[in-house]
Amino acid sequence: MEKTSTLNTYKAVFDHLPAACILLKPDHPRYTIIDVNQQYIATLRWPDEQFAGKSFLEVLYQNLEIEKSKIDRDTLMSFFLQAINKKCPVEHDVLKLDIVIPDSGEVMHKYWTTVTTPILNDQSEVEYLFSCPTDVTVQHELADRGIKLESAARIQREFFESVFMQAPVGIGVWEGPSFITRMINPALSKFYKTDSRNLIGRPIFDAFPESGLLWKTIMTHVLETREPYIGVELAVDLQVNDTVERSYVNFGLVPYYEANGSMSGVLGVSIDATQQVALRKDLEKSELIMKIAVESAGLGIWDLDLKTRKVFSSSHIWIAGFPMEQSSYLLDEFLTHVIPEDRNLLDDALNGPGSHFTTVLRTVWSDNSLHWIQLTGNILRDENEQRVRVVGTTLDITDRKELEQRKDELLSTVSHELKTPVTSIKAIAQLLERKFEPIGDRITVDLIHKLVNQIKRLTNLIHDLLDASLIEGGKLQLNKNHFHFNELLDEVISDVQRTTNTHKIVLQPGPSIQSFSDKERIRQVIINMLTNAIKYSPTADEVLVSLSLEDKCIRCCVEDFGVGIPKEKESQIFERFYRVIDDKHSGFQGIGIGLYISKQIITRLNGKIWFEGKADGGTIFCFEVPQF
Ligand code: ADP
Repeated sequence: MEKTSTLNTYKAVFDHLPAACILLKPDHPRYTIIDVNQQYIATLRWPDEQFAGKSFLEVLYQNLEIEKSKIDRDTLMSFFLQAINKKCPVEHDVLKLDIVIPDSGEVMHKYWTTVTTPILNDQSEVEYLFSCPTDVTVQHELADRGIKLESAARIQREFFESVFMQAPVGIGVWEGPSFITRMINPALSKFYKTDSRNLIGRPIFDAFPESGLLWKTIMTHVLETREPYIGVELAVDLQVNDTVERSYVNFGLVPYYEANGSMSGVLGVSIDATQQVALRKDLEKSELIMKIAVESAGLGIWDLDLKTRKVFSSSHIWIAGFPMEQSSYLLDEFLTHVIPEDRNLLDDALNGPGSHFTTVLRTVWSDNSLHWIQLTGNILRDENEQRVRVVGTTLDITDRKELEQRKDELLSTVSHELKTPVTSIKAIAQLLERKFEPIGDRITVDLIHKLVNQIKRLTNLIHDLLDASLIEGGKLQLNKNHFHFNELLDEVISDVQRTTNTHKIVLQPGPSIQSFSDKERIRQVIINMLTNAIKYSPTADEVLVSLSLEDKCIRCCVEDFGVGIPKEKESQIFERFYRVIDDKHSGFQGIGIGLYISKQIITRLNGKIWFEGKADGGTIFCFEVPQF
């Protein structure tokens, strides 16, 4: 009776245990079920049937998703065997047992730990195995998620570390208040010219006492005020092999906080600005040199925005008539100080074909004095090739102009004074020539002949100089008449032909042309072209002349086979007193005025004059004038 009641008590306790429990026989490998409590059946979702007497493993495997659980009987039994052999409770490793829900067939993924306790009889033999599994799925998943989170955090940490280490800017973290270097990336240790191992864990100002004070003040300020600090081109002195080297940095310092919000130190990001500072200093130096050079040359610099017509100028020349401090003004405001005849010159130059120009304007200053201002300009274009800006120089050339004027006046006076006596000498020489020719004294006649020729040259020179002064004074007179151009050309050719016995002047066939122009001035131009062609081709024996009519324009060209003109002299060759100076041009007489006069004459006749160089040497000079 007592035994029955004990059994009943045990049964009641067993069935109502809050944990899943099963009682097994230790009859390896069958492990016969002696009893299984309701909690066990519910936990493992076993079907409602009689289990006592059945093999535990059979029943278990019937009700498990074995394939998915991937658990084999041997593993399971090894735990039972351990408990039997050790005769003490054994805790199984976490096992994954997937459970099939009987009605729906749904599979639940479950993790378990099981404690199997051997129950011994009086002879210390194992009589039962008492096995209690615990569902640890939730803990397992949490642990699993923890591992995943940890690995994500690790990846993120590694990412930040690689960004930190590879960043092209210097990054460092210093722990206050002693500013112990906690982290420092290679870019920053490179800037400090040391290895990061020499800095980590040490107060930064111990490492660099030479540049400490200013930095300490700044970093302490950030730490105390909690305000970020941005610094530009701050000097850092570093001790390198017994010398202190100065570098510069652009940097930002921010206070940094621990995860719990407490402030911990300073994080700094810096960019080495040493090169930038050096470049800027070089630039400032060269700007200063340029400024000194420009100022000592009396040059001013001007910069015109073509859209707004606003001028920025460094020059007092430009601001003559303006208050002295005014260095920015409208172009049209400046033009009011330019004399009316010259006002269009600048706009003409700005709209001209080239991208560079030089022009001279006459300005009246506030003290009523007249000043010649030479302007040079480089025209800058945008990506659409539109002119947008002009940058150039200004130079007051008044002194030079006045000197030139005095020289011109002197030349003009001298030429005028020479003209009368030379004309009389020429007349006397020609008289002598006529008188001695019939007498037949050859030597005397030759000498007089040479005298007459030299006097002719002198007369031509004086006429040229007088013409040049007329042109400079804007007084060159033109007299237009109707004439037959071919007749003029024939006359000039035979006149010039008489002066040479080395060259043959060949007139190529061309049309017969009537014209209305200044015959004598055109004669002067052709004579100049022919005499130059002969003069500058000493080893040749021929000069070719051609005449044509195109679009009501008469074109006359003179071709020689002489020394030629370098292409780069093109822009200067028609300037007053300009002569080419090189080996080929040495030894020729002349004063560089003939082409200047020719250009002025042809321009006044609304024509143009130019030259073309020839590959095999020699030059072709041409001019064109309207036929009528
Ligand atoms: P000049 O001949 O008196 O020096 P020009 O004004 O006629 O002056 O010519 C200017 C310069 O141009 C000359 O000094 C010479 O260097 C160059 N020149 C002119 N014509 C020729 C030519 N046909 N061949 C080579 N050079 C020339």
